[in-house]
Amino acid sequence: MRKILFFISILFTACQATDTPSKTIPKAVFIILDGIPADVLEKVETPVLDEIAGIGGYTRAYVGGDVGTYNETPTISAPGYTDLLTATWANKHNVWDNYDQQPNYHYWNIFRTTEQHNPDLKTAIFSTWLDNRTILVGEGTAGDFKIDYAADGFEKDTIRFPHDDAAAYIHQIDELVTDEAARTIRESGPDLSWVYLEYTDDMGHAHGDSEEFYQAVRTADAQVGKIWEAIKERKTREEDWMIVITTDHGRDAESGKDHGGQSSRERTTWIVTNASPLNERFTAEEPAIVDITPSILHHLGISPPESVRNEMDGISFLGDVSLDQFKVELQGKTLKLSWHPFVSQGEARVLMATTNHYRTGGQDQYQEIVKIGLWSGQFETELTDEQWAAFEASGFMKILIEAPSNRANYWLLK
Ligand SMILES: [Zn+2]
Repeated sequence: MRKILFFISILFTACQATDTPSKTIPKAVFIILDGIPADVLEKVETPVLDEIAGIGGYTRAYVGGDVGTYNETPTISAPGYTDLLTATWANKHNVWDNYDQQPNYHYWNIFRTTEQHNPDLKTAIFSTWLDNRTILVGEGTAGDFKIDYAADGFEKDTIRFPHDDAAAYIHQIDELVTDEAARTIRESGPDLSWVYLEYTDDMGHAHGDSEEFYQAVRTADAQVGKIWEAIKERKTREEDWMIVITTDHGRDAESGKDHGGQSSRERTTWIVTNASPLNERFTAEEPAIVDITPSILHHLGISPPESVRNEMDGISFLGDVSLDQFKVELQGKTLKLSWHPFVSQGEARVLMATTNHYRTGGQDQYQEIVKIGLWSGQFETELTDEQWAAFEASGFMKILIEAPSNRANYWLLK
């Protein structure tokens, strides 16, 4: 990955800005390449990712939620994928590890939201791990939707793919998954596709920071290349393809073999996309893995139900953005709100709920507590005796900020 391309992409975006968009069908593909720290991606030559970033952009990003807070999330694979799928952290989606996962399906994933928006939209999952479709996305469990194209579960076929200690079979499955993704995109052009490739993580665990690991990254880049070529072939049609490539966690600084903790290298990931123009959440801030689903939904022109949007922790890096970094502290009965504004004018509504029925399938009654000017970046307000008593009784409060272009939320736990 060469960072210089980022500047080329700004120029490219500036030149494109005057073009009138033609009427096209939006399509999206997101790819997770497992366990590649940002410093490794930036060091190893990845010509395909460079080409894609040259059209849209490259940025460092983060996983793991906010360290030391209620939404801190392990830098482990399945929690990371579910962060992406639901645009929430583990305190909501409830996937804490790679085994015995108990996703809380009340927090809708991108496939459910897409199918709910329009059941005629075609969805696809191409994956070296079956659980991604059957458990994390929860086809047949998480809601009334079906994935239209699936190529996965090959790791269960030990006749065709005998399991070897060097994990060569995982590389072979990644190749098959890639070929199926490229073929299906070329032939059928699903509206929303997820491609998951695992081999990089296996080489990281086995060899740490090493030539073997770097070679696996080059191989993954070439696999993305096959899918990117299929997308380019579709572009002769009236289709507008967004591709996003990311990873689910970094690795430890000492050996590069491990992950799961909250060190800077384990938390620091990256996002590559061809989408443009990218807003300041991408170009000036460090976006999070939870931002990918809101961005793809923006591209697809899908607005989730309000109750789903109220719970999302991610912010779209496409389209307009009002604020990010929303935080709330309670000192006595004083609520101290802070945020990073992207705009110099405009108002936001601040609402509160002292229940969390959403978590168990219900709805929460929000009450507006104040309207604030966005530009200041901070505001203090006193809870009324009634609001304070409700918080004392439930031990829980969620604060929602509704700005013109995006929302954000924060939990207070007694
Ligand atoms: Zn992983």
